Amino acid sequence: MIYYSTKRQAEEASLKKALFKGLPEDNGLYMPETIAKLPQEFFDNIENLSFQDIAYEVTNTILGGDVPSEEIRKIVDDAVNFDAPIVKVVDQIYSLELFHGPTLAFKDFGARFMARLMSYFLDKGENLHILVATSGDTGSAVAQGFFGVEGIQVTILYPQGKVSPIQEQQLTTNGGNIKAVEIEGTFDDCQRLVKEAFLDPELSEALNLTSANSINISRLIPQSFYYFNAFAQLKREGFKKVVFCTPSGNFGNLCGGLIANRMGLKVENFIAATNSNKVVPVYLKTEVFQPKTSISTISNAMDVGNPSNFPRLLELTGNSYEKLIKRISGAWYSDDDTEATMKEVYDQTQYVMCPHTAIAYKALKEYMDGNDLGKKTAGVFLSTAHPVKFVEIVEPVINKKIEIPQRLQEIIDRPKEATLMPADFKQFKKYLMAETELVKS
Ligand SMILES: *Cc1c(COP(=O)(O)O)cnc(C)c1O
Repeated sequence: MIYYSTKRQAEEASLKKALFKGLPEDNGLYMPETIAKLPQEFFDNIENLSFQDIAYEVTNTILGGDVPSEEIRKIVDDAVNFDAPIVKVVDQIYSLELFHGPTLAFKDFGARFMARLMSYFLDKGENLHILVATSGDTGSAVAQGFFGVEGIQVTILYPQGKVSPIQEQQLTTNGGNIKAVEIEGTFDDCQRLVKEAFLDPELSEALNLTSANSINISRLIPQSFYYFNAFAQLKREGFKKVVFCTPSGNFGNLCGGLIANRMGLKVENFIAATNSNKVVPVYLKTEVFQPKTSISTISNAMDVGNPSNFPRLLELTGNSYEKLIKRISGAWYSDDDTEATMKEVYDQTQYVMCPHTAIAYKALKEYMDGNDLGKKTAGVFLSTAHPVKFVEIVEPVINKKIEIPQRLQEIIDRPKEATLMPADFKQFKKYLMAETELVKS
């Protein structure tokens, strides 16, 4: 399969190139040239397939020309080794829980799949060094995704005192091939250091550097799996049609849904739900796309003022505004709305949601109440993180202690290991060179 850039100014790339390069030279985004439809019998029989079977069929359809089927089976079985159940919250409305992976957020799907695909394409004896700057969630998903993957070394940079205590534990207690560097500075400083490292010829020579950027095409593909699997579960419950609501920041998760749709999954409607960073809902209303500086909210993983996957959103809906608004509707909510929704749903149903998830629930509920969809249509909102990851926000709102899952408790008890340094490129470079020598010897 050929991968083209959404800006169409860069050379087309092979899967391997798109995977390791991440971004085309023209700063567009890589997209597969064709997205083939799955056969009708796949959908007729989907309720009898396991999550891993579904993931295999989807991946084989997209990557089959580039990766042998038995390797795809291995990659998928290893990457998708936890469940994504639907849980009924109120009549006809279900939560699609995407937080049963190692770091308790949906980013585990993308990171685990990308790690295994990169490992497959890495030649024997070849080493790869991944640098990631993180403000929290991405870094831990990437760390966990690449943990123990042969030939790959990961260095995570995070800003001192600017990630939550749970996030810091997740970043700094991995050991093995994962190293954490605590920077005396901001997230922007971390990003600048990573950029400088990529531009440094000596480092490029010594280390085979790659970023595990969230716009990597390999992170998008696995984010379609759970839309299919949610539909399979709904069919078992007797439903025939589905509406999906995705809490969105960079819109990678929603793009996963649109890929599933292009591959033949029938979806009545997609809802893009955001917090006050509402450039996409505004675009859907006005056809004007106006990127903004991001605003801080309590659903901070969606604090994005210029969503990086927006070009893919257009591409996946045929670059037509009319088509786009037929398939996707938008909604956005304030922090007050978010808190009120967390509380109301907890009081009425005892279901606990993280702030991002609460936004998706509210958008879906309003849509379902405002449209007569009949008894055979279910609404599914994507639960992107376990509420315990945002415990300091959720607990006071619902006035109840959230239980810490076992796998998180284990991390909390481990000692922190991180190298503290100022936001200075010379020191960072020296550190990376020394680490590389250690790995080689
Ligand atoms: C990353 C993230 C989002 C936003 O997902 P996008 O793919 O960037 O739209 C929403 N919720 C949580 C908890 C996240 O970590």
